[in-house]
Amino acid sequence: MSTAITGSCLCGAIRYTIEAPVRELRACHCTQCQKASGAGGSVNAVVASSAFRIAQGTPKRYRSRADSGRILNRYFCGDCGSPIYSQRETTPETVVVRAGTFDNAGEMKVTGNIWTRSARPWSHIDPSSAQHPGQP
Ligand SMILES: [Zn+2]
Ligand SMILES: [Zn+2]
Repeated sequence: MSTAITGSCLCGAIRYTIEAPVRELRACHCTQCQKASGAGGSVNAVVASSAFRIAQGTPKRYRSRADSGRILNRYFCGDCGSPIYSQRETTPETVVVRAGTFDNAGEMKVTGNIWTRSARPWSHIDPSSAQHPGQP
């Protein structure tokens, strides 16, 4: 039985596969995710790089210093602008995939929130989820 998750950008030029179960979703309320998403931040699955595969297309990369001070590479579709995933230079063994690009997220819920101190007033934070004011 395959537990693979598939996803794509808005226009479909980029497609990917996650060959591992995703049990936790983490919402990031940092100011950079707000700018990158044009919304309240991002909701992500942290997965092993070895389980993540780009199946189609080549994402563009935007390299910046994150609110944590670390260098973060953000990968997105150069045609439609969808953020796809990000990766810290210090932790190449994991990728942080934008859950909003999943083809199907089933019953997944946000289980943790980070950078809550910069959360926008309109963002709902589930009180039963884990919360960190900054980078845990
Ligand atoms: Zn696209
Ligand atoms: Zn963020």
